[in-house]
Amino acid sequence: MSDWFNTGWDAVDETYEEIGRRQAENDSRSNGNGGDNKPRGPFRVRLRGPKFENKRLVREGETRRYMILDPAPASLHEHRYKSYREDGTIEWNNYEPCKKKQALPGYKKGDDCAICIRYEKNYPYYVGLHTAMSLTPYFSESGYEWMFNRYILAARLGSPKRPGMLKRLQRLAQQHNNGSMRGMVIECHRRGEKSEIIGDEIDCIEVIPEDQILNWARPRIAEFVERVNDKIRDPEKHLSVNRVLERDPWVPFDWGKIIKVHSNEELFAKIGRSSGSSGSSGSSRPQSNGYGGGYGQSENDPGGYRDDPGPSQQDFLDDDIPF
Ligand SMILES: [Zn+2]
Repeated sequence: MSDWFNTGWDAVDETYEEIGRRQAENDSRSNGNGGDNKPRGPFRVRLRGPKFENKRLVREGETRRYMILDPAPASLHEHRYKSYREDGTIEWNNYEPCKKKQALPGYKKGDDCAICIRYEKNYPYYVGLHTAMSLTPYFSESGYEWMFNRYILAARLGSPKRPGMLKRLQRLAQQHNNGSMRGMVIECHRRGEKSEIIGDEIDCIEVIPEDQILNWARPRIAEFVERVNDKIRDPEKHLSVNRVLERDPWVPFDWGKIIKVHSNEELFAKIGRSSGSSGSSGSSRPQSNGYGGGYGQSENDPGGYRDDPGPSQQDFLDDDIPF
């Protein structure tokens, strides 16, 4: 049985060409984006952009290294959208595959998609998901070091006019590893505030042959474990190499389990149904005619959901890449 998402580069190439064709047909249409997402399960790679104060650079954009564990990405059309938590704060990072744009389990391509209906300008984008092992430490506020964790590295395809980093990763794999990404150590650097969240400068540092990955990893993890254990007083809580490997094995994620598809009813319950109907329960399913049709057209609607993130949502703007 095959997965509903695509694997391998052919799908990426096909979609890329399709996007180029559509863009040529409809050149004037500016792509918006909107919405947000909550990472479910593993976190996504998010590099901090550079920071400016009074137009002066006060912090460089982040640079981080990862090893990619999948031979090729799992790729799909997804939305990013925002929702409100119970305490009223905004969760910017929710992701949902688009039911309209592609066939999903239990749905056929072209079906109603709650996000498309609810947010007029939240266009789905094509993205390649990779399993990325972190090789650069993160430090918690209390100074605790985190490393060798698996993240989702989500690279956007973009368009021929404005390629995203998925094309860069594909090229690196072709240049360095016969098209496979498994074992590639990459360095990601985010140069600009508006650059793609995984960085807009990605290079291949080295390629570890598949059968050497664990041999390469073990001594590095051992050094990390020694550093960390030094700071943990309770010996019961000490890490070991095997514990680190069990927590985050150096194998690709099981994407079929990680990528969740929610029903439209679940999504409407979370984000509200539309500007016109206030959360009626199930009896009146919206009749979608595509983008619009009266749904999600208003900036303000019941429940305080806004399509416009407002000036204070820097994080949202950072990731608001128009493709
Ligand atoms: Zn959609």
